[in-house]
Formats: sequence, C-alpha cells, structure tokens
Amino acid sequence: MQATLTVDMGGTRVKLGLARGGVLLWRETLEARSERGLAQLLERLAPLVRAQARGAELAGLGVAFPSLIEPRTGRVLAAYGKYADAPGIDLPAWARREFGLPLAVDNDARCALLGEWRYGAARGRHDAVLVTLGTGIGVATLLDGQLLRGRHGPAGNFGGHLTVNLHGQRCTCGNIGCAEAEASTAALPRLFAATPGREHSALTMAPRLDYAAVFAAAADGDAAALALRAHSLRVWSALTVNLIHAYAPELVLLGGGIMRSAAVILPYVRDYVARHAHTPWGEVTVSGTALGDDAALLGCEVLSFLQREHGGIGGAAAG
Ligand SMILES: [Zn+2]
Repeated sequence: MQATLTVDMGGTRVKLGLARGGVLLWRETLEARSERGLAQLLERLAPLVRAQARGAELAGLGVAFPSLIEPRTGRVLAAYGKYADAPGIDLPAWARREFGLPLAVDNDARCALLGEWRYGAARGRHDAVLVTLGTGIGVATLLDGQLLRGRHGPAGNFGGHLTVNLHGQRCTCGNIGCAEAEASTAALPRLFAATPGREHSALTMAPRLDYAAVFAAAADGDAAALALRAHSLRVWSALTVNLIHAYAPELVLLGGGIMRSAAVILPYVRDYVARHAHTPWGEVTVSGTALGDDAALLGCEVLSFLQREHGGIGGAAAG
C-alpha cells in the first residue's frame, strides 16, 4: 500500500506526517509563523517533504488548511488573518511542480472529520457533525456518507458562525452573536473584560487567558471564571442544538484544545441536547473525538484517497 504525505497547517503549528492505512509512519511539527504568510512556509516545507518522499512509494499529498477552500480548484477563498497571501497561491500547482504529486486540500475541520469517520469515533456513521473548540470554532458535516460542501464550498463548514446571541458580540465574519464570537479562545479576552467581578478574579494573574485557566479557576470557585464557564457552556450547547436541527446527525463529535475539559463540557452539552434538541427521528450521540491531534493528519490520507478515486481537488464523495 502506498503512503500519503499529509500536512495539517494550523495557525501556530504545522504538522507534517507520512500516513499509510491510518497509521502515521513519521511525523514532525514546525512553527507556522502564519503571520508571515504561506509562501515562507511552503519554502520551509519543501525540503522536508522531499526528504520523506525520497525512496518512499507515495500516492499523493494531502493538506488540511485552516480556512475555506474552493472544492473544484483547491484555491484558498479567504485568509481570515492567517497566511494572508494564501488566496493568491496555487497549492495544487506547487505540489505538482515541487514533488510531482497530486494534491488534495480541504478545510482542517473537514479533514479531522474524515479522519474520525474512517479511523476514529465516527467510524461506520453516515451522518455526523464535528465541532472543534479552540482559537476559533470549526465545523464539518458528513451527510448520507458524504462530506457536505455545496457548489461554492462552505456548506456544513460555517457552523462556528451560526447566531447564538442576537444581542451578542460582533464577529470577524460581520455577523453578530456568532458562536465563535461568543465562546472561543480568541474571544476570551473580550468576554473576560465584560465579566462582572473580573478585577477580583484569579484570571487577572493567569500567565495566559485560555479555557484551561478558566476551567481551573472555576473549579476553585472563582466567580468571574464560573460566569465565563457557564456562558461558554450555554453557547456550545446552543450551537450543538442548532447543528442537530440543521443536519439531523446521528453523532456530534466535540474536539479541539478546549475539550481537554471534556469532563465538564460533555455532560453539560449532553444534558442540554437531551432537554432542547428536537429529534423525533431518533437519538443523537454527543461524544469526544478519538484521534485527538492526529485526526486531520490521518484525514488528509482519506481526502487524498477520495480525490484519486472520485476526482476533484477535495474528492467528490466520502461514501
Ligand atoms: Zn461569525
């Protein structure tokens, strides 16, 4: 069986791997320096990829990108503050020119869902939604055993920008009260600044204001942290109900860095879903992911396989 080179381009870290049949034979992590653009990263990646490609029998290159990808061309449609030069770079042409390999590229949440679907917590499912809770909120949707994209690309992918608060914060996308603007690591400083009693909170002393700090302080009874935690749990729960009503999945997977606090988050979301989601057709399972940090790297192998089987940059189907 041929191996696939897989790259998960995060905003801060880039993971590079060699995957074969759902096993990572080799992996390496690089600093992304995404504020300096994509061209510098591709220059640093090329020798590493070439070194791995030497002597290996390779089927292709799969890339998970933290942005919106046009399905037919593999073009990055918008940069959202990461890799600002990416929309002008032809990634498939780069892969052909540098390595002579076909490139499959899609949004990172979609790649993670493909990984979980083939090798992890969504194995055997036909309708599933993955939500990644982290710096932002990523969503990907599998419907009838196929990755949902639509003609223009973003279908099933913009869940982080569903409205959960009509009177909420303005989001980077232009909407008001998006889940991502109401409860994500990027939104935390602004949320904390608006929290009553923040001046007495241990969070003012935290070296880094992230959800690990919020959950730790809340466990100690810190009032501001408890308020932030309660607000965020409601946001993630309302988002999950929205996604269940939109796509009727059998399974909602919650992943991403914030899910290190899954012991608090999962029971809360499950209880909220049980009380508020309208699912006359059956029951929805809400669970954590199985592959963690490796989901997107392994999903890139699936993406690359699907592209070769079904054609198109992102692979037409997952069924
Ligand atoms: Zn938004």
